[in-house]
Amino acid sequence: MKSQTDRTGFLPVRRDQLRKERVHDTYKLQHKLAEPTVCMECGAVYHAGRWQWSARPAGAKEVVCAACQRARDRFPAGFVEVGGSFFAEHKAELMNLLRRHEEKEKAEHPLARIMAVADTPDGVLVTTTDLHLARDLGEALHHAYQGDLEFHYNEAENLLRVHWRRQL
Ligand SMILES: [Zn+2]
Repeated sequence: MKSQTDRTGFLPVRRDQLRKERVHDTYKLQHKLAEPTVCMECGAVYHAGRWQWSARPAGAKEVVCAACQRARDRFPAGFVEVGGSFFAEHKAELMNLLRRHEEKEKAEHPLARIMAVADTPDGVLVTTTDLHLARDLGEALHHAYQGDLEFHYNEAENLLRVHWRRQL
């Protein structure tokens, strides 16, 4: 297995090899989160073992959540490379689908967000604060438009690269 790892530590994986459950992102957390805790940037509340959107509880501790910290550091957990001539022809439609999907995910999982969308020679690179969101964005494209979908996982850093392409 090791020999397949490229310089960056990313290894090809099948989607069924990816963990189903959402792992609590401990990016830059100094210690275990107390309950309740509120993110001083986005207002997400950590309570009952998970992040959620709710009113700020009395006496909440303040931290910067992993998603806001990743955005600050420009250090994504997920990378979705979208490309091919089909994308070029249907860019607005496909970007809409990705945004709608993010909204839906973020409503339930506050730390799952699109961080940035950057143009590439072949399409766009969408970065996310959350690995599951990156996987789901790739699957949403594949579900709606078929095309080629690949995953590369970096286990040491828990990063995921998703490649989706389709030609016309
Ligand atoms: Zn936050």
